[in-house]
Amino acid sequence: MTTRTTRDTPQRSPDGVSLTRRGLLRSASLGGLSLAAMIAAPLEEQIAYAGQSVNRNSKPSELRITDLRIAHIRGAPMRVPIIRIDTNQGLYGYGEVRDGGSPRYALMLKSRLLGENPCNVERLFRKVQQFGYHGRQGGGVSGVEMALWDLAGKAFEIPVYQMLGGRYRERVRLYADTTVSRDRAEYARRMKARLDLGYTFLKMDIGINLLAGERGLITAPLGFDWLRDRMTAHPFTAIQLTNRAIERIVEYVAVVREAIGYEVPLAADHFGHFSVNDAIRLGRALTPYQLAWLEDLVPWQFTELWKQITNAIDVPTLTGEDMYRKESFIKLIDAHAVDLVHPDLATAGGILETKKIGDYAAEHGVGMAMHFAGSPISFMANVHCAAATENVIALEHHGVDVPWWEDLVVSPEKPLVKAGFARVPDRPGLGIELNEEVVRKHLIPGERYFAPTDEWNQDRSNDRLWS
Ligand SMILES: [Mg+2]
Repeated sequence: MTTRTTRDTPQRSPDGVSLTRRGLLRSASLGGLSLAAMIAAPLEEQIAYAGQSVNRNSKPSELRITDLRIAHIRGAPMRVPIIRIDTNQGLYGYGEVRDGGSPRYALMLKSRLLGENPCNVERLFRKVQQFGYHGRQGGGVSGVEMALWDLAGKAFEIPVYQMLGGRYRERVRLYADTTVSRDRAEYARRMKARLDLGYTFLKMDIGINLLAGERGLITAPLGFDWLRDRMTAHPFTAIQLTNRAIERIVEYVAVVREAIGYEVPLAADHFGHFSVNDAIRLGRALTPYQLAWLEDLVPWQFTELWKQITNAIDVPTLTGEDMYRKESFIKLIDAHAVDLVHPDLATAGGILETKKIGDYAAEHGVGMAMHFAGSPISFMANVHCAAATENVIALEHHGVDVPWWEDLVVSPEKPLVKAGFARVPDRPGLGIELNEEVVRKHLIPGERYFAPTDEWNQDRSNDRLWS
């Protein structure tokens, strides 16, 4: 039995409930059997299905992946390839490649997923995990994993957080990043505005980019363009901060602290690419301002350098947004190299892998904040994971200043974000539906809405990692 019921554009009722054809069919369901299925199914199937709680629009054990397509949007606030995985039963699941990543990271997995049952999330994750890596290269595997959970949840009519073991919290605390201004008073005003919106945890970007163009602050090899040469890692730039540069950075924090007070946690990020010695000098200078953490002071790969910084300063340290899979976090956590870990679920390997990272960190007394800068699809993947993971401190929200960010999806549980917290939805899967009209409006020019991707159906390769 195949009933394709799910491809229509969601409409919104006055109370915000999605009025897709599927939604309407669902509300007309009898004992888990939708009206469409009732009409289509033979009598013996109707009897067998009646009274069962799983979605018999779908028979989970016979669910098979038939397609993987992309809608590539921009301005959310980043560029985001949204993934849709389709099945033989009309059910589909959403995920997304990490913001700024290539859709190809997901598309290259399609040939490995076609014909598979999406409910076997962990088995499929292990099948494709070799095609992910750190940074944006983890975005394909992670995005597919989100879509598989969405599908499994819809097939069994259960929210993702419940499949992970249930909730530690009914709402997830968010931390808001804030757009930089070189004008200290303006920067402080923007930070205060976040508090006024109800945010209970803040982050500011402070670093040597705020000092660009001023003479006598940054020492660097003459002719070295530290604004343009982004690919040189911190220890190799030979950039040094003068005492005046450190004072300038500290002034920004002082002015912001003055505006927001000391009651609210304030984290700091985007310092720039300078050495461990200067990271330690700066960290010590910032001690009086009670920062929640100093982020990505050196690349995450340098475990020993992180350990050196963490041992030398009293401000908590944090890294992790570009790390793929739990093995890299285990190395960092075992060494107690940072005080807090900070995976981006859309790089780290998806929902379950991020929970595993959180659980491992928790066992070692390390807290977890969650990096996030994508669309509401990945946001909800994060919310389910954060709800189900004990040591989560706060989840980042990068879309605060994008007025249409929440409009990308419809959900009866909107707003997704209220007074600095995310609601944990009780609906099956991730609990959201795309708003096709809004997504179409923000497609990258020239991109189509979930266009066919048949060229990715087949790939000839022996994927085994041993002989
Ligand atoms: Mg960061």
